[in-house]
Amino acid sequence: QEAKRQHDFVFFYSEGLDEQHLRKLDILEHLDYAAENDELTLLLQPKIETQSGKTIGAEALLRWNSEKLGFVGPDEFIPLAEQSGLIKKLTQWVFRQSASYLRHLNAPDSFSLSINLSAIDLLSDEILSVIAELEKDMPALNRHLVLEVTESAIVSDPDAAIERLTWLREKGYQVSIDDYGTGYSSLEQMRRLPVTELKIDRAFVQYLVSSPVDQSIVRSTIQLAHELGLSVVAEGVEDTESWEWLKKQKCDVLQGFYFSKPISFNDFNNRLQGESCD
Ligand code: C2E
Ligand code: MG
Ligand code: MG
Ligand code: MG
Repeated sequence: QEAKRQHDFVFFYSEGLDEQHLRKLDILEHLDYAAENDELTLLLQPKIETQSGKTIGAEALLRWNSEKLGFVGPDEFIPLAEQSGLIKKLTQWVFRQSASYLRHLNAPDSFSLSINLSAIDLLSDEILSVIAELEKDMPALNRHLVLEVTESAIVSDPDAAIERLTWLREKGYQVSIDDYGTGYSSLEQMRRLPVTELKIDRAFVQYLVSSPVDQSIVRSTIQLAHELGLSVVAEGVEDTESWEWLKKQKCDVLQGFYFSKPISFNDFNNRLQGESCD
């Protein structure tokens, strides 16, 4: 009896692992040609200037609708693409698509588009070549592209990351620290980072209205960022109360479902056109 139960358990357990493993292999196999197969889309989520309520930019967010696997979310495929190195190929696609969006948006000259870079991208030669390629047709790319990197992308090799970020800054690109507060960067590291923007992670914004602790964290982060000369973005704003609170605290830019979910290029362009008419 005992042995049988053990056996069942082992069987069940290994079956679970197999399924997980197969899913991973499936994803990596199909993700490899997702770009060529026209299965990728880049959605845009508006970035709103807190004081004016105007759309001043957008974050580009990758979506994958696989012919074989159906819709797969970035939280599932991005980590796998990072582990396998496939992310470099996806990021090149994101860069090219973003440049194309910038060329075709009815946006004011001050508009900027933020794209997410993984740790591997930040240190890779591929981003150098794709940037050089795009700048040939678009010399002003640097004035319209913001590169978002997470604290964890920097913590793994701070010196190399700082060197690359400095290069990007010298070329005129804006650099943003994404998901701020969830990593382990020290204040000393923050001070050394050549960045222009800090994005407070959604985890601290979500319960802002009811959590005095989160209010303290967000308030002091905004103050610190401003003292370091950085612009502050709050991500994950979902209600009026949080918006009003963040406005009072002089948070510069807001992003969240309260304003808009990530939307298609056409919907975003219509939104911009609508705003320029008011
Ligand atoms: P992220 O860069 O921190 O992007 C913000 C995420 O929060 C997005 O999820 C966005 O849809 C979601 N979000 C925005 N406002 C709200 C809100 O008010 N409430 C809630 N609940 N969520 C909100 P998404 O698009 O699923 O992306 C998840 C993560 O996947 C991103 O986090 C980023 O780390 C990664 N990712 C997405 N696209 C790319 C990409 O092109 N390259 C890389 N390397 N990573 C990407
Ligand atoms: Mg981001
Ligand atoms: Mg984020
Ligand atoms: Mg995130």
